[in-house]
Amino acid sequence: MSRNAVSLGRVLGIPIGLDYSWFLVFALLTWTLAVSYYPAEFKHWSTAQYWIIGAVTALLLFVSVLLHELGHSVVAIRYKIPVRSITLFIFGGVAQIGAEPPSAAAEFWIAIAGPAVSFALAAFFSLLQPIFTAAAPLLALAKYLALINGSLGLFNLIPGFPLDGGRVFRALVWGITHSLRQATLIAANVGRLIAFLFILAGVWRVFTGDFGNGLWIAFIGWFLESAAAAQIQQQQVQDLFAGHKVAEAMSRNYIAIPAETSLQQLVDDHVLGSGRRCFVVKQGDDVIGLLTLHHIKEVPRAEWPTTTAAQAMIPVAQVKQVQPDTGLWAALQEMDRDGVNQLPVMADGQMLGMLRREDTITFLRTLQELSA
Ligand SMILES: [Zn+2]
Repeated sequence: MSRNAVSLGRVLGIPIGLDYSWFLVFALLTWTLAVSYYPAEFKHWSTAQYWIIGAVTALLLFVSVLLHELGHSVVAIRYKIPVRSITLFIFGGVAQIGAEPPSAAAEFWIAIAGPAVSFALAAFFSLLQPIFTAAAPLLALAKYLALINGSLGLFNLIPGFPLDGGRVFRALVWGITHSLRQATLIAANVGRLIAFLFILAGVWRVFTGDFGNGLWIAFIGWFLESAAAAQIQQQQVQDLFAGHKVAEAMSRNYIAIPAETSLQQLVDDHVLGSGRRCFVVKQGDDVIGLLTLHHIKEVPRAEWPTTTAAQAMIPVAQVKQVQPDTGLWAALQEMDRDGVNQLPVMADGQMLGMLRREDTITFLRTLQELSA
């Protein structure tokens, strides 16, 4: 989970987090609903009523987005794909799904599950409306949530990465062509085309006088276009890495320090000056752990002279590691998933080298130069 998120506990074993940006959205949405939307739609409520219903609506919208993400997650878990976390942030939610889907069918069902939940919620709030006809505030709430969930489902079905519709489309092409690579490229290019249409439509609306909506539509187009371009670029990188192993890119000149080295000594001798960020901690000839700048910073500065490397490190058993013959692409994805910048390369308990993010970038540049 990102460090900018407040933990809300777990649902179905999945940690749920609330990005700080969400509080801003909650305040803005409540305010808009209370002073503008509800007063325009429904007259003669008290000010307190507008604000209470505004806040309740914003909260239920948040629950709706959470249910949408849980829809994706439940299906992913059924396909035995781990869901690492769900974070709700400024534009909605993101379920961190732990792996690429194993098949076209899996990708299709995981992607479609979110919009399906949104449409089910829209139907649910529509069905509630006849029951609430006597209670205007509740009716207003149900109307708004039916509308917004329907829009959420529709918006997410736009066939452009990284929206759900882009994934549904890629799954369909994948099912037809039986090639994930080809499906990714086709889906990303279709996504780009749709993005350009959004930008065109947005610009056209701006010039025909609908400035606010036009700008908003163009902005969505721009967002879709950059996401599709990133998808294509990622595929190109993956193609370049294909067939290459960790052992080819890892660096062998990592710095090993004795377990009893104090953090102060380490910082003075190795960090300042060389700018190294990651060290292997050894006891005799055995690698016992890994120490990064991040871990050093977690120890208060006053305690650096009295804290040893062995006390501050992560023990080797808990360190994520890769094998020398692991594919380079797979190793990179592992780094991304775990949010680390290096992975020790180990085989039979022996440390062979260190794969750092910058090593893979250097390797990639070399490959690019050789292929150009
Ligand atoms: Zn979704």
